[in-house]
Amino acid sequence: MASTAYRNGTLQTQKGAVKPITATSSNFKSSSFKSRLNPSQSPGSALRRSSPSSFAAGNDGVPGRVRVAVRLRPRNAEELVADADFADCVELQPELKRLKLRKNNWDSDTYEFDEVLTEFASQKRVYEVVAKPVVESVLDGYNGTVMAYGQTGTGKTFTLGRLVGEDTSCRGIMVRSMEDILADISLETDSVCVSYLQLYMETIQDLLNPVNDNISIVEDPKTGDVSLPGATIVEIRDQQSFVELLRLGEAHRIAANTKLNTESSRSHAILMIHVKRSVIGGDEALSSETNNGSHLVKPSKPLVRRSKLVIVDLAGSERVHKSGSEGHMLEEAKSINLSLSALGKCINALAENSSHVPVRDSKLTRLLKDSFGGTARTSLIVTIGPSPRHRGETSTTILFGQRAMKVENMLKIKEEFDYKSLSRKLEIQLDKLIAENERQQKAFDDEVERINLEAQSRISEVERNFADALEKEKLKCQMEYMESVKKLEEKMVLNQRKQESNGFISDRYNREVPGVSVAEEVAEVRKLLQNEMYMRKAAEEELNKLKSQFGKYMQSGSCEDTETSRLHKMLQDETHQKKKLEEEIVILRSQLMQLTFEAEQMRRCPGENGNACTGSDRHSQYNETGNGQKAPITTLFEQVGLQKILALLESEDANVRIHAVKVVANLAAEETNQEKIVEAGGLSSLLMLLRSFEDETVRRVAAGAIANLAMNEFNQELIMLQGGISLLSITAADAEDPQTLRMVAGAIANLCGNDKLQTKLRSEGGIRALLGMVRCGHPDVLSQVARGIANFAKCESRSATQGIKSGRSLLIEDGALPWIVQNANDEAAAIRRHLELALCHLAQHEVNAKDMICGGALWELVRISRDCSRDDIRSLANRTLNSSPIFKAEMRRLRIDF
Ligand code: ADP
Ligand code: MG
Repeated sequence: MASTAYRNGTLQTQKGAVKPITATSSNFKSSSFKSRLNPSQSPGSALRRSSPSSFAAGNDGVPGRVRVAVRLRPRNAEELVADADFADCVELQPELKRLKLRKNNWDSDTYEFDEVLTEFASQKRVYEVVAKPVVESVLDGYNGTVMAYGQTGTGKTFTLGRLVGEDTSCRGIMVRSMEDILADISLETDSVCVSYLQLYMETIQDLLNPVNDNISIVEDPKTGDVSLPGATIVEIRDQQSFVELLRLGEAHRIAANTKLNTESSRSHAILMIHVKRSVIGGDEALSSETNNGSHLVKPSKPLVRRSKLVIVDLAGSERVHKSGSEGHMLEEAKSINLSLSALGKCINALAENSSHVPVRDSKLTRLLKDSFGGTARTSLIVTIGPSPRHRGETSTTILFGQRAMKVENMLKIKEEFDYKSLSRKLEIQLDKLIAENERQQKAFDDEVERINLEAQSRISEVERNFADALEKEKLKCQMEYMESVKKLEEKMVLNQRKQESNGFISDRYNREVPGVSVAEEVAEVRKLLQNEMYMRKAAEEELNKLKSQFGKYMQSGSCEDTETSRLHKMLQDETHQKKKLEEEIVILRSQLMQLTFEAEQMRRCPGENGNACTGSDRHSQYNETGNGQKAPITTLFEQVGLQKILALLESEDANVRIHAVKVVANLAAEETNQEKIVEAGGLSSLLMLLRSFEDETVRRVAAGAIANLAMNEFNQELIMLQGGISLLSITAADAEDPQTLRMVAGAIANLCGNDKLQTKLRSEGGIRALLGMVRCGHPDVLSQVARGIANFAKCESRSATQGIKSGRSLLIEDGALPWIVQNANDEAAAIRRHLELALCHLAQHEVNAKDMICGGALWELVRISRDCSRDDIRSLANRTLNSSPIFKAEMRRLRIDF
């Protein structure tokens, strides 16, 4: 639409000359001069040309025609005088934005402009309509150009470069632009820099630093952007310094022109204001980078806009002949005109949409490449004077403006990623994260350190307590140990003395057990004791070593679990070792007791029957003789403690168990100890040993001890209650060793003597077990079996007499009679007597008589009544036979003389 608008505004001739329109048009309204650029609001119109410098990503640009305003200077003093009788050559219709150029008194050409500024237009208004929209675009990130074109003396410099004078309302576009820019930007994030140059005879001079008097134009081969890297760039932070900079530039311009013997109107002045603004963009550009790190603060996309406002005060456009110069001046005029005519040619080419635009023909056109046909927003102000004398120049100027109005630019925002700022932001964020990470790491390390310290102190406390307890226990044991060793030694010395005084005893003993004397054994035990002491000492040293190792370990701060558990294990081993040592001490003591006990026995033996002291009887477990030498055993009780001895019955060491059971059996042989043993649970332990049989000796000795305990009526009931009879029966059935069987038979025999247990004993197989053991044939076993039968028969008889029991004897029921009859006249006195007695008891009850007669017992009874060497048994048999009618009848039948 915009392009149509200005095409309608002028009529093109074949030569490209512009004819003024005769009809008015308001088409320009459709594209307001003041309208602020907003790419998103602009419709996508057809692009006439694409910009070579479109480097802003994703920005296609919007069309923006070059805006042209015309300004008429008021008559100056000279004109007021000289042209007093003439009318102005132009007539302005500002409300219609039209200008009429008089051809003569009755004819004129009418031209339409974007703005028509009369001689009364204020500097402020001129700035607002011509420059302000461009400045606003520059602040929005677009390049912008404000250029003044016109004949010398028409007010180009007045319009653009007028500095603050006596009247601030006179300030020109340069000053006002900078005011607006500084007001809009933030000095913290944005920046404004300025270069000020002069182009004279195709040479670019630096007005801020005159030493740079030949600055070259550099073109970016990729973007086509032109820049002047040699020009001084000064950052502007306030208006005052900018004005001073302009003054400095102006002073340098005057100085340069004086040196070159020229005027400022013959050179082009170019002010470049570089605006850099930071913009916070969307986050889409960074979303892919930050997706994975949700804990990170998502940095916003930093964008930077680098725009440039170029204000060009062109040299005068008047013809060379009018300046009246020659020679050098002519060359100069050519140079001035080279740039100016090149600019005109470019604008013509652009206006006509020509395929070739001769941009490279001059430095001016190269510098203004972006301003005409580029991406910048451009405003041109053409200045004219009122004098009819300069009508030709005025006309040329007007036509230049008209052509420029046809140039359409493609405005593009100069925006790019601010990689520097992004990198700075990320660096700051990284620093923050590193600091945070370090802080957390430190907190974590501190916590670990704290836990370590706590654990260490706990471990050392436990270890300390443990070491203290161990030390105390050790001291106690040592004391006890020393004490008992002392006592034992005293006793040994005493015993030795006694033995020495009774030399014949040891002689006898030596005869009995060739090769081993009590003295030697005692010496052996002593040696063992000594060894134990050494071992104990070694163990203590080991313990101390461990302690010091542990101390070192704690000092080194290492508190690894494995090390601690290793030390614990060693300590456990140590404790175990100590326990074993204690056990061994107990055993040694009891061995010593045993030996002492035996020595005592030996000493008493000479006057008695040698049988009592035979090898087998040295271990006799039940004390039938009742000689009651309790001293050594009692000593053992006192010194060691029954609980400790009983505990040894469960020791892991088989030897310890064997020895312990022997000691218990010895103790059980003493009547006074029996009660204590049972109270301490010794009976149960002994029965347990029978049950968990693994060693014949253990079983034999345990059975012996049980036999001893079974002498007591109370214990008999206890044994029955704890299932002892079945355990004894099992042992009776599977034991081979005659001594074991003798002990078992002895135990059962004792139980047989208890009136109350008769039925239970028999029902649990006691009698059968007893009879089963006769298979062994050993006289000692047989003797115990016979004793049991006699005991049982006696109790049974008593019960029958008391009327508690009736019916046949349980002995007969369980088939004992044949064996009784068979062995009633045994050679061995012990067997014989027990069985004779048993027969007498059985015969006392008529209910048994028939079986006895059938089993041949009557003959034995008759024999007993006649031949028994013991008077009491003989008379008992007599009485029994006499009182039994059945026996008497049978004797009569058999014609036995009685
Ligand atoms: P140019 O730069 O085009 O050669 P100048 O800006 O130097 O012309 O102006 C020439 C003279 O005219 C100066 O003295 C200036 O003050 C005066 N002048 C120009 N335009 C105006 C105006 N609009 N109002 C008042 N005086 C003006
Ligand atoms: Mg000037």
